[in-house]
Amino acid sequence: MQSDNLRILVLTGEQTDFLRYGALLRGHGDFVPELTWCPDPDDVGDLLIHAHFDALLWEPTFHAGSEGGFLQYLAVAGNEKPVIAIGSGLEDEQTERLVAGGAADYLCKGHLDRWSLARAVRCVWFRQQLEDSAGGQLGREVASGFINRNLFFDRLQQAILRAERGDHRLALVHINLDDFRTVNESLGYRQGDELVLRLAERLRQALRRVDSLMRIGGDELAVIAENVDDSIDLSQVVRKLVSALSDPVMVAGNRVGITASLGVATFPEAGDTPETLLRRANRAMFEAKRDSGTSYRFYNRQLHISAGHQLKLEEDLRNALRSGELELYYQPRIDLITGEVRGVECLIRWNHPTRGLVMPDEFIPAAERSGLIVPIGYWVIEQACARLRASADLGFPGLVFAVNLSFRQFHDRKMTETIFRIIFNANVDTSLLELELTESAMMHDPDYAQRCLRELSQLGISFALDDFGTGYSSLTNLQHLPISLVKIDKSFVQALGETGDSEHIIRAIISLAHSLQMSVVAEGVETEGQLAFLRDQHCDEVQGYYYARPMPWPALLDFLQDRNRLACLPE
Ligand code: C2E
Ligand code: CA
Ligand code: CA
Repeated sequence: MQSDNLRILVLTGEQTDFLRYGALLRGHGDFVPELTWCPDPDDVGDLLIHAHFDALLWEPTFHAGSEGGFLQYLAVAGNEKPVIAIGSGLEDEQTERLVAGGAADYLCKGHLDRWSLARAVRCVWFRQQLEDSAGGQLGREVASGFINRNLFFDRLQQAILRAERGDHRLALVHINLDDFRTVNESLGYRQGDELVLRLAERLRQALRRVDSLMRIGGDELAVIAENVDDSIDLSQVVRKLVSALSDPVMVAGNRVGITASLGVATFPEAGDTPETLLRRANRAMFEAKRDSGTSYRFYNRQLHISAGHQLKLEEDLRNALRSGELELYYQPRIDLITGEVRGVECLIRWNHPTRGLVMPDEFIPAAERSGLIVPIGYWVIEQACARLRASADLGFPGLVFAVNLSFRQFHDRKMTETIFRIIFNANVDTSLLELELTESAMMHDPDYAQRCLRELSQLGISFALDDFGTGYSSLTNLQHLPISLVKIDKSFVQALGETGDSEHIIRAIISLAHSLQMSVVAEGVETEGQLAFLRDQHCDEVQGYYYARPMPWPALLDFLQDRNRLACLPE
């Protein structure tokens, strides 16, 4: 074998040790050692950046901080060159820890001889050459608290198999922290490492339990997200990761802002082996690097577009709330006995600067997913209370204002408290405020939901069960809840005359609700025929295009005025 020059950086505080290692390594036929001594931890970074080394000899006592952190730093700064640790402890004890922490090999200082040191150097060097030629992206094997390449591929393989069996989609997200070298240089490796760990912790909290997060390199993390079947799931994972990365991190009293690039490759679209998925996520990540700030790219363009659409929608919605683009429309509810407007349902609209009027079905789901429904929901209640107050002054006292409450709003543990504050500040007659909720809103945590309903009903607020008939619960199950009104879903009303079923269902709901002392509102009434049927069945109120569509506040005032005038006319 031809002999090569092998450049080795020796990290030890003692010159005698440096000289000893040099002596032990000289005189082997297959390589010529070129040793550089670095006695000061602060100089390591400079040396690694400006000079080239094939391997590092490192004594764990070289510096004061954690071994794992320093190994990690060496991996980043030294471009993953192999590190041979020379420790003073017992071999078995330390080997495992240091090798798990990223060292390529471990030797015991007390038992060091010409043969063992040369073997270790030769070995790591050969392995390095092999990996370089194989183009290994995760050259270094293991890193502290992180995962080694084999284990990572193993997990990815398992996840792929599960996805295959369950016919699910899986996403691999490759996260690379931008310009991490600069962070390390300005903060020092220990703080740089601290920063990555903090970020990793945040990411972990943002993920679901089934997702796994791994640190696969100095400034690289990977997430395996399973069961992400549509672009909504996918965008949710990406959104959470991006937002977890967006806030500055406190490291040793400094606020450090960092951006990252995310590359997403999905199974099956981007490949079905761990290697291909990682390569493609990596490629997407490099694409993302072109954008400023924390950005992401999907390997698959179509997915990029649809998930991007979701994320854009959520961002626009956040702005909408801030810049007053949301508006309430009001749809009257007519009492079938008196013909009077008993109340109005408040329905949200979004006056989008470019898209025009956007309907709730297009953005409420996004608001629920992102949690934005919570502040939006409070805005709706505030607005409704303001209108409720105004309506009495404008000559329409006693008008009920109904507001929709999403299941997601119950996730806010301060819900009852916040609603209480809003109505208290607005100083309204709470008996005129009605909250509409669906069965599913109560399904998630029935005990908690029940408690909320009780507390709010003690304030005088009443509750309506929305979209009734579409869920699974029976009214008798719900009778212990403070619900005073049932709204028959419009699908039943609109199927009247088409199938006999809907007639039976409507009849049954009305008679059961009445027997439980609940009133009934039928939604989606569009025709004379539907109205006549409902009247026959003693339905209490109706709401629908037949009488009025949802309308802006000034139009509602005109509508109410006209009906008042009609009511005053002699029959
Ligand atoms: P919803 O609570 O069932 O509201 C009734 C929907 O039926 C409204 O749709 C209304 O415009 C529509 N509608 C009323 N009469 C008729 C009719 O005769 N024919 C037909 N075809 N439709 C009729 P909209 O305003 O598009 O709202 C859709 C859904 O969005 C609402 O369904 C509600 O679930 C949700 N939503 C609206 N505003 C809010 C809000 O402020 N908060 C929450 N959480 N959800 C809201
Ligand atoms: Ca409703
Ligand atoms: Ca409804």
